[in-house]
Amino acid sequence: MAWDFETDPEFAEQLAWMRAFIDDELIPLEPILDELPADEWLVAKRHLQNRVKAQGLWGAFLDPKLGGAGLGQLKLALMSEIIGRCMMSMAIFGVQAPDSGNMELLAHGATEAQKERWLWPNLRGEISSAFALTEPFFAGADPTVIGTTATKDGDEWVIEGHKWFITNASIADIVLVFAETNPEGRPHRHASVFVVPTGTPGMEIVRDIGTMAHPDPEFGRLGNHAELIFKDCRVPADHLIGDPGGGFTLAQQRLGGGRIHHAMRWLGQAQRSLDIMCERAVSRISHGKPLAQHQMMQDYVALSHMEIQAARLLTFQTAWKMDKYGAAAVRTDLGMIKAHVSKVVLAVLDRTIQVCGALGYSSDLPVESWYRGTRFGPIGDGPDEVHKSVLARTLLKGYTPVEGWPSEHIPSRRPAAEAKWAELRAEAGVT
Ligand SMILES: Cc1cc2nc3c(=O)[nH]c(=O)nc-3n(C[C@H](O)[C@H](O)[C@H](O)COP(=O)(O)OP(=O)(O)OC[C@H]3O[C@@H](n4cnc5c(N)ncnc54)[C@H](O)[C@@H]3O)c2cc1C
Repeated sequence: MAWDFETDPEFAEQLAWMRAFIDDELIPLEPILDELPADEWLVAKRHLQNRVKAQGLWGAFLDPKLGGAGLGQLKLALMSEIIGRCMMSMAIFGVQAPDSGNMELLAHGATEAQKERWLWPNLRGEISSAFALTEPFFAGADPTVIGTTATKDGDEWVIEGHKWFITNASIADIVLVFAETNPEGRPHRHASVFVVPTGTPGMEIVRDIGTMAHPDPEFGRLGNHAELIFKDCRVPADHLIGDPGGGFTLAQQRLGGGRIHHAMRWLGQAQRSLDIMCERAVSRISHGKPLAQHQMMQDYVALSHMEIQAARLLTFQTAWKMDKYGAAAVRTDLGMIKAHVSKVVLAVLDRTIQVCGALGYSSDLPVESWYRGTRFGPIGDGPDEVHKSVLARTLLKGYTPVEGWPSEHIPSRRPAAEAKWAELRAEAGVT
């Protein structure tokens, strides 16, 4: 038996350091973060990042086999749960999306020269990256059909197309573009990934798109989602990552890790939200007693705790399986936890808003903004419907159709049950 739910004491100390660092150094800045002068924040951010690096906790997502300082998915899950309590921590610990997924893609597909040029600088935090797959006129849920193309012209690839919702594209140094190179290879060997450095002629950053999280985006803000147009956009041949037609597989590798990393962070956000709910429940009096003593409020608290605990176990178990058997073996689980935990975190955030009443709805508490920011969860990285459909199809493969009555049909089972009973009576010597 090798079931063990305890964290080893040495790593537990690292987690305690992380928690104290985030609680004492980062969370207190939240109320004024958006107002800090960008140049000063950059210096302060580097200082904080250096403290994380000195602690050996920087960029912990990338497996050492791929050249990273990764500690494995289970340890990353425990870390990300703490990181998820405060969104800015992602950048301070060097695990921010979409860079982390892009680095995984480069680690799997890039040549040594390409890694020197883009992966290691990205991992050190010297450059930032974006990943451009989704398009306005094709369903992002189905990346086997895209409109963006790349054609070879001498020593160059020429990209033509239209992308949108590309996180950080308006501030990134490089954009990893998913474009069709091999239409005959559809559905899964049709596309390739190219590195397009910002400023490459022919790549136009049209705008940052307003969203629920930021209805009035300021162009070039970290976390924005951009619309891009590619017109005769030329990159040298060595900007192709991997083989022509290998882009779908590379993108899957990137998205698999991304799905579990989102789930890990959502656990932290859900728990912080529950803390807000509970504090309010014990503090606010209604109809002569604290909210905490009204049974429907207790239901919200208990249900939220149960859902978070169940989601934690599912996430940690998937992380453990990933460490033991590899990401390819748990592809269905990765979709499952993303679909499950995205629902749990939104349900907990919604209940917290309800328990806090008008205050919860207001921007005097952070919960409404977390809700708006996290609402992308069931849509992004492939909609939950698609993950559930893949899960259901995988489960259904284990079943074969039966003729006539179902196997569990009680009247049909009766003759076999009577024969079994007669056999047992004889064997036991019942007279
Ligand atoms: C905040 C945010 C950040 C993003 N960042 C990036 C990024 O950096 N790079 C990038 O390339 N993309 C990014 N995206 C895009 C994201 O990956 C897509 O939104 C997602 O894959 C869904 O594609 P779509 O929006 O085109 O929806 P569609 O494909 O049009 O689907 C719409 C809806 O239809 C339903 N649906 C679709 N297919 C099926 C099916 N097979 N079965 C059942 N129901 C189905 C689902 O409910 C789905 O939500 C981001 C999106 C958001 C919201």
